[in-house]
Amino acid sequence: MSQTRFKALETINSRKAKKIKITPQKISEIFAKDVFTDTKMADHVSGEVFKSVQKSIADGTRIDRDVANQVANAMKEWALKRGVTHYTHWFQPLTGSTAEKHDAFFETSGNGAIEKFRGELLVQQEPDASSFPNGGIRNTFEARGYTAWDPSSPAFVMGTTLCIPTIFIAYTGEALDNKMPLLKALNKVDEAATVVCKYFDKNVNRVQATLGWEQEYFLIDSALFNARPDIMMTGRALFGHKPAKGQQLDDHYFGTISERVTSFMRDFEKQSLRLGIPVKTRHNEVAPNQFECAPIFEETNLAVDHNLLLMDVMDKVAEEHNFRVLLHEKPFADLNGSGKHNNWSLSTNTGVNLLQPGKNPKENIRFLTFFVNTIKAIHDYSDILRSSIATASNDHRLGGHEAPPAIISVFIGQQLTKMLDDLEKNVKSGTMTPDEKTALKLNIGKIPELMLDNTDRNRTSPFAFTGNKFEFRAVGSTANCATPMIALNTIIANQLIDFKKDVDARLKKGEKKDMAILKVLQKQIKDSKKIRFEGNGYGEEWVKEAEKRGLSNLKDTPRAIQQVSDKKFVNLFKEMGIFSEVEYHARQEIQLEMYQMQIQIEGRMLGDLAQNHIIPAAVKYQNLLMQNIQGIKEIYGKDFKKMAYTQLSIMDELCEHLTKVKKKLETMLDNRKKANKIEDPFKKAVAYCDTVKIHFDDIAYHLNKLEILVDDELWPMPKLREMLFTN
Ligand code: ADP
Ligand code: MG
Repeated sequence: MSQTRFKALETINSRKAKKIKITPQKISEIFAKDVFTDTKMADHVSGEVFKSVQKSIADGTRIDRDVANQVANAMKEWALKRGVTHYTHWFQPLTGSTAEKHDAFFETSGNGAIEKFRGELLVQQEPDASSFPNGGIRNTFEARGYTAWDPSSPAFVMGTTLCIPTIFIAYTGEALDNKMPLLKALNKVDEAATVVCKYFDKNVNRVQATLGWEQEYFLIDSALFNARPDIMMTGRALFGHKPAKGQQLDDHYFGTISERVTSFMRDFEKQSLRLGIPVKTRHNEVAPNQFECAPIFEETNLAVDHNLLLMDVMDKVAEEHNFRVLLHEKPFADLNGSGKHNNWSLSTNTGVNLLQPGKNPKENIRFLTFFVNTIKAIHDYSDILRSSIATASNDHRLGGHEAPPAIISVFIGQQLTKMLDDLEKNVKSGTMTPDEKTALKLNIGKIPELMLDNTDRNRTSPFAFTGNKFEFRAVGSTANCATPMIALNTIIANQLIDFKKDVDARLKKGEKKDMAILKVLQKQIKDSKKIRFEGNGYGEEWVKEAEKRGLSNLKDTPRAIQQVSDKKFVNLFKEMGIFSEVEYHARQEIQLEMYQMQIQIEGRMLGDLAQNHIIPAAVKYQNLLMQNIQGIKEIYGKDFKKMAYTQLSIMDELCEHLTKVKKKLETMLDNRKKANKIEDPFKKAVAYCDTVKIHFDDIAYHLNKLEILVDDELWPMPKLREMLFTN
């Protein structure tokens, strides 16, 4: 009998919700308790030092040594009081997650030791970084990497360690992380949007990109998790017969949350709040055991750090509750996958959300400017968005059950579609009569009214306007939001720069400002029409329609990456100052390698599971059946076939599926061997995609058949119904 599975099932039967001490604390009392906030910095350093740091943050300039020393000392004093013993530079290598290396806060002095933390240790460190992915950068330049303090994201305490957010770069200057290019992209979009804002308000001198992510995830009991090697190693169930009941009843969505899960949520939310992550909503998602957590939106760099931190906190807290968090985009083939919607907007230092329709024509021309420019940017560079979210795990989700397709399109709702259609027609070339102008302005003034009853929310669109922000929904649940945010903010910056040029050219010719802007927008509306789609993104017809329109449908990661290796894309990132050519190609190489390695691990795992767990269980069952058939034969003689009808037909089916599994595994293994000989990262990834991954579903199909044939008592691994319907 299979010990692991039944032991695990026994274990979870006796699970109880972890009791959480309910304290009468308000959120405002615990919020950011573990963060070295600006207020705390201001309390610990001189006014002059504080101002100097704030100025460096705002201008992105160097912090001088004296100032750094004082801040380091203040951080140390604050941290020591909280029992902190170590500090670490917290950074985002290109693995997609975070890394840290802890150092103790002391230095020996005489025969004793004293707690010390100097400015230079705050500002710069040299982690031994040789084993982080660098896409050949380090081989080419033989450069070591170092981490450098990002003062715009505050330091925080996790356990007994002070964590300092940093960027990670090679000595030759190439970025080896996600934060550095993100900061560059945010800076670029700030510059580009600020000058455009000056058409409308001279007081605007800073524009921040804002990000509000929504994190979806699955929870499963840790005992069951440990009994499923595939989930442990790859984050997803590589096989598993569909439970009789899945999500068809939709009874999980927004349903009540079990006590065990609620207790986990309260716990991780509390820790998140202490870390300054403004988590606000929690609810059940569509699939059984699927949930979502979303914060209040923040400045993008901070929001990205907070999401990475949240994923860590969730993991740690889940263990205390005997849960495991599955962040994978598609942990279970037949259920809804998990995404991380990235809600994005632009907001000025004067407090205006640039994607919020205004109250009068003047404000709405500003709204339309940013709205239409965004659509145009997506139209021109949809492939960049697609490739920014391309991973092996997200490929399983895109185009799958209730997930946006791999085709990038923009949804804006009926009313705004009408508005853009009107603008396209009604802004006349040449001069317009005063009456025509007034009519146009009145029409533009109506936007907020239209928005009020704009309730049609298309859930199937990968990039949708939702009232006062765009929502990039194709982002996967494991993603570091930095990657899609680098892509999005770069293409927006580029677009706004073009827009400014076009408008200025018209102004030079003596056109009035509003008319010049509207005419440029009109052209953009025309030119970007094909990216707009209001229909059902999940439907087959859309795939055909998109092809007719000439939109890309990049179904897998290797193709998505190949698409953007074109000079046009490299040059864009170069011109915007986000990536050098070397950095750009290094990233592509890493993305392809990660893809190939993930598929390789899945392929190996599938082989192990079949050979070491499932085939042996099926063979044991065959033996039982054979003994039984033998006995029946002894009793019934030549009539035995009739009497052993059931046993014999199960034997036939077992043989059939066992053979198919074995044959397909052999083919897959052969193909893997061939693929491994390929040097070129793109060709290798394609081989893995087209000749290895292509067999996964088939193999799983036959394993699932075996699962329903073999005696339940002999089945070695937890079944999906056991993992998804127990809590
Ligand atoms: P839903 O889209 O699920 O109906 P909301 O509209 O309240 O929910 O917002 C979802 C997410 O969008 C939240 O994380 C919220 O913080 C974020 N959000 C709201 N406004 C903005 C904005 N201006 N910029 C970025 N994110 C935003
Ligand atoms: Mg949403």
